[in-house]
Amino acid sequence: MSDRVILTGLVLGSYPYGEYDRRLVVLTKERGKVTMWANGARKTNSILRACSQTFVYGRFDCFMNRDGYRVTSAEVGNYFSEISGNIDLTYLASYFCELAEYETLENADEHRILTLLYQALRAITNTAIGPDLARVVYEMKMYYLSGEGPQVSQCVHCRKKDEEKVFSIRAGGRVCKACAGEYYDPVSREQKELAEGRASHNWYNLSEAAWYALSFIASTPPERIFTFSVSEEILAELQELANAWRIAYVNHRFNSLESLRVMEQYRSFMIPKPKEDGGET
Ligand SMILES: [Zn+2]
Repeated sequence: MSDRVILTGLVLGSYPYGEYDRRLVVLTKERGKVTMWANGARKTNSILRACSQTFVYGRFDCFMNRDGYRVTSAEVGNYFSEISGNIDLTYLASYFCELAEYETLENADEHRILTLLYQALRAITNTAIGPDLARVVYEMKMYYLSGEGPQVSQCVHCRKKDEEKVFSIRAGGRVCKACAGEYYDPVSREQKELAEGRASHNWYNLSEAAWYALSFIASTPPERIFTFSVSEEILAELQELANAWRIAYVNHRFNSLESLRVMEQYRSFMIPKPKEDGGET
């Protein structure tokens, strides 16, 4: 019996190992997240050099041993070179990979997350979608695929599908007006929070378009999910929500997210945004 196995997957992380080798964390269609060893991949003439980079998607010909999979050759399907050539996109894509690494398991069926990640990496270079929307869609869909996504089709408490609804992070999604009570109305909510001496990042009165976008993300398969665009206002609603959701439910500190934040701060410091003069363009 041969221990040879061919795995199709995307390199989530590539780390120097030993003198010339690389250790790869690869999200595969067949066996979930696996560790691969690319011996000699850091030598300039190695046939494994090209396939041992982060974001590479391809078919990896491996031998299985106790420590994982030793790569013998690979056929690269996509290098996502437009990402590696752009520092901002590289940071964002690294975060996508780190989130995928965190949310997936070895020897589990993770093919839907692999599809989501692949499509997300395509979407961030697609000008019709853009990196900001791609990130929100990717994050929210990842939570759904991991069983941690918000309930948006009915009230989490009474299961009614009333039109009058509000989003509660803590409750896990949609709450109808009756169940939300005084929290339904932003003004009375604010008064209550002020009286209690706290500012809540729990309740959100989302626009109908934002509700629709969330429903679309929840119900659409990963291969067809990056097919819509939204206005700046809706994007801002979704970004705030995705951020609050991650803080509440994903109990993990992502190094790449820190790097992304530092990069964004640096950019906003170096390149001040033009002042809005309110005049007509
Ligand atoms: Zn209810």
